Parts: sequence; structure tokens; C-alpha cells
Amino acid sequence: MRRIIRISVILILLAVLVTAVFVIFFDQAVLVRKGTIYHEPVKEKVVALTFDDGPSPVWTPRILDVLKGADVKATFFMLGEHVKMYPDVARRVAREGHTIGNHTYDHHVLLYYHSKELESEIRRTEDIIKEVTGVRTLYFRPPKAWMTSAEKRLVKSMGYEVVLWSLNSKDWVTFDDKYMIKYLLRHVRPGDIILFHDSGGAFSTEGGDRDETVLAVMRLIERLKEKGWRFVTVDELVNMRKNDAQDPGKH
Ligand SMILES: [Zn+2]
Repeated sequence: MRRIIRISVILILLAVLVTAVFVIFFDQAVLVRKGTIYHEPVKEKVVALTFDDGPSPVWTPRILDVLKGADVKATFFMLGEHVKMYPDVARRVAREGHTIGNHTYDHHVLLYYHSKELESEIRRTEDIIKEVTGVRTLYFRPPKAWMTSAEKRLVKSMGYEVVLWSLNSKDWVTFDDKYMIKYLLRHVRPGDIILFHDSGGAFSTEGGDRDETVLAVMRLIERLKEKGWRFVTVDELVNMRKNDAQDPGKH
């Protein structure tokens, strides 16, 4: 009996460990990239910073201050629920020239949805963002990057492009901004879309501590600027790729 208990405990610990390693070191977005915008093959040293799960009354203003101070524009994938709760913060994001994307209403994993529910979730979010900021969203990012091919087709038929990322800061499991910056600087390539969070926690859409994200974004911008990089929004990045494609000789 004791032996069975001991083996069970070891098996449970092993399962927890494997799950933790998977969550920390593996990026599930690589599995669903087909047919999405996640990295644009541009020649110039540009990247797009993106922030998910906001707006947050605590963290979004701090990130906006950093971006404003550095004269950098970014893309914010907002939750309809948070836009409704914090309309002033959402308005500030729009007013300061950042791009706003759609990240569903309340961050349920999309695999739970029927297509009708997904459609109404996206429209509901689109409506509240439009009502509050005047912006009509054109880019959609699925929560946790879990999305089927049928869902991608549906979202596209609604007039959206699905946007994922090529570089993941893992800011929701990394608690050291220096490690984050080191990792990002080592892996950054022209045309990368970088994932950060301006709200959310490990198990909810709010309440997390994004201090390290604020610091990492500030230092990453400084370091990349020193090396001659520029920062663009997702739509600017898409347009750059289209222009590069039209003019292949351009440098
Ligand atoms: Zn999210």
C-alpha cells in the first residue's frame, strides 16, 4: 500500500514537472502559425511590440508612459471586458497612436466555443472597442494561441487577420527582466512580432504583477535603439512587407 502511494506521488510530481517544463519552455503558438501573421519577412531592422489582455488601470498606463517617452508605437490586443471596465485607459491607448486589436471578450480558450459563440464573442469585443475608442479592430489574437483551422477561416471571413507572434517574452512566467531582455536580444530578427502582457495573471485576466514587463520593455527599447532598430505597429509591419514584396531591390 505504501509503495503504491509512493509511486502515485512520484507520478503526480512527474506530471506536474512535465507540464511546467512544457509551459515554460515551449511556445504553443508555433503549432498554429499556418495562415496567420506572426513574423513578416522585412529587410529593415524593425520589430512590433504587442501587449495582450489589457487594458489594465495599473500596468497599461505605465507601459504607455514608457512607449511615449521613447516615441514608440505598439499594438494592444484588448479584452472587451477590460475595455468596458477601464474605458479611459483604452481611449488613451487609441489617442496616443497605438494600434488596437481584438483578443475576445473574456479570454476563454477558443477550443471550447461553437463557431456562433466565437463570432458573437469577437463582434461583442469589436463593438465595445468601437464604442469606447472609435477604432474598428482588424486584427484578432486568440487567447493562449489555441485555435483550429476552421476557427481561423471563420475569423478571416469576418474581415480579420489572425495575429500571433514569433518572439515570446514569456513575461507571465519569467520574473526576471534581465533574463527576459537577454533572451529577447539573443533571438530578435527583423520583422519579429514580440509578445508581452499589459494585464492578466498566471490563472486569470487580471491581478498579475507586470513590473518586470514594464522594466523589460523600457530596457529592450533602449538596447535595440542603440543597435539601430525601429519599432512599428503590426499594421505598419504588414505594410512594410507588402512594399518590400513590390520592390524586391529595395534595401
Ligand atoms: Zn491573452
